[in-house]
Amino acid sequence: MSFEPDPEKPAAIEPVDASTLMDQLNVAKAEVLQLRSQLLESKQLDLLTGLPNRLLLTDRMDQAILLAQRQERFLAVIFIELDRFKAINQTLIFPERDELIHQVSRRLIAPLRLGDTLAAVSSDQFAVLLPDLRDPLEPSSVAQRLLEALRIPLWVGKRKIHLTASMGISLFPQDGLDSLTLQKQAESAANRAKVEGGDCVQCNTPTLSEAFLERRELETYLSEAIATEKLQVFYQPQYDWADKLIGVEALLRWHHPILGAVPPSKIIPLAEENQLIHAVGEWVLRTACRQVAAWQSLSLKPLRLAVNVSAQQVTHPQWVGTVVRVLEETKLPPACLELELTESSLLKNGKLGHAPLHELKAVGVRIGIDDFGTGYSSLSYLHRLPIDTLKIDQSFVAGLHPESFEPSSRAIVQTILQLGENLNLTVIAEGVETDAQQDALRRMGCEAFQGYLLGKPMAAEAFGHILEAQQASSFEALVVPKAKPIQ
Ligand code: C2E
Ligand code: MG
Ligand code: MG
Repeated sequence: MSFEPDPEKPAAIEPVDASTLMDQLNVAKAEVLQLRSQLLESKQLDLLTGLPNRLLLTDRMDQAILLAQRQERFLAVIFIELDRFKAINQTLIFPERDELIHQVSRRLIAPLRLGDTLAAVSSDQFAVLLPDLRDPLEPSSVAQRLLEALRIPLWVGKRKIHLTASMGISLFPQDGLDSLTLQKQAESAANRAKVEGGDCVQCNTPTLSEAFLERRELETYLSEAIATEKLQVFYQPQYDWADKLIGVEALLRWHHPILGAVPPSKIIPLAEENQLIHAVGEWVLRTACRQVAAWQSLSLKPLRLAVNVSAQQVTHPQWVGTVVRVLEETKLPPACLELELTESSLLKNGKLGHAPLHELKAVGVRIGIDDFGTGYSSLSYLHRLPIDTLKIDQSFVAGLHPESFEPSSRAIVQTILQLGENLNLTVIAEGVETDAQQDALRRMGCEAFQGYLLGKPMAAEAFGHILEAQQASSFEALVVPKAKPIQ
């Protein structure tokens, strides 16, 4: 009977003595060194970092593209440009500059797989080739890991250096079929990331971005953003008929490092589906109340704050208590807070939503109806609900501009203004973009305005500058009338 080796069973490893192993290792090392010097001679390695340069990257990409075509796989290029590198570099002396680049390349290599290529493209630019991918979303996760790796401060000598990068991803075959196109696409996406303010990633492929907006992922990101306070509040000014600043609307902003700016129209419905709306809403309310109270204490002006509220918040048993607690904590007078609900959210809650609004009204908080005129509201609830303000929806304001004039918009605006007057409600027009719209509104008797013409939503710091300027100009006008030059 003959003995056949079992093909499933791995062959036993022949014992090899240590000196043979060392010899083999030395041969391998010598081969690597020889290959390296060959590459250097053929000008395919970057002299400073020893990483592949663009030439070798392109060569590896060409091979990877052939393989990806054959095996129906994806491949990706991540273009990396260090942010503010020239400014940082100028603060370093010669050996430190090289040391910094060495450390950066080590940081960028760490999250990569065996078989990926990190190339040095120029003094402050790198590129990563991710070949043989099954999942087109993988490059975004890798880019995220690269961003995180760079964010950890670097030590060069005794200096602590904070570096970030702008990254762009291109994907084969979606963004291009050859190495040059893919590199260009990744580079232009990185430029967009730079324009976005750096420390983020941009993709080219719309399907990639869309896939990223898939609910579960977005949900996780949103929870993280809430927990790590990565959400922001922007402030849009509101003016009266005499161009005096009377109030400000708080608007949620979220800039995700991969997804870029995620608009409230995406965040709010998602947050409502996942009960995250309560945490988001409370955070916006507290942040905005604290900010406006701080501005008021500086300028001594009673600035009114409008905060958007979603239908779900209103019916939450703890909502009224939360609003009252936030007002107490932040010391914002209740009369300075106006909670904005859309017509549709008022209708959605039916009578359930009435009691909390009455309770808040009783403590002095104001209630406004947002996007007024777009819902199917009945006049009767305007009587039953404790409403102070109607906000004319921007679609009607748009219809007042001569080029897009809509007679029905004019009629609706007039009706809302009339209604406001009859019911003794404040009426404010939103979405005012042109002088012609504001003039038309003024002629119809509208006395409060909000829109890009008067000021876009902006970060707290920028809004603070507006307040300072207003205070300075009123101070000048009141206290220091301009003296006539003495002849
Ligand atoms: P909204 O409350 O009606 O806010 C006005 C929206 O119009 C804002 O969009 C603002 O940026 C934009 N806008 C202001 N002036 C102009 C203009 O002159 N022209 C044009 N075209 N647009 C203008 P944004 O910030 O994208 O918010 C959209 C909506 O998302 C808001 O509509 C509000 O309903 C909701 N939202 C925003 N922040 C929050 C929040 O913290 N909580 C809740 N529940 N909803 C929020
Ligand atoms: Mg609003
Ligand atoms: Mg609105």
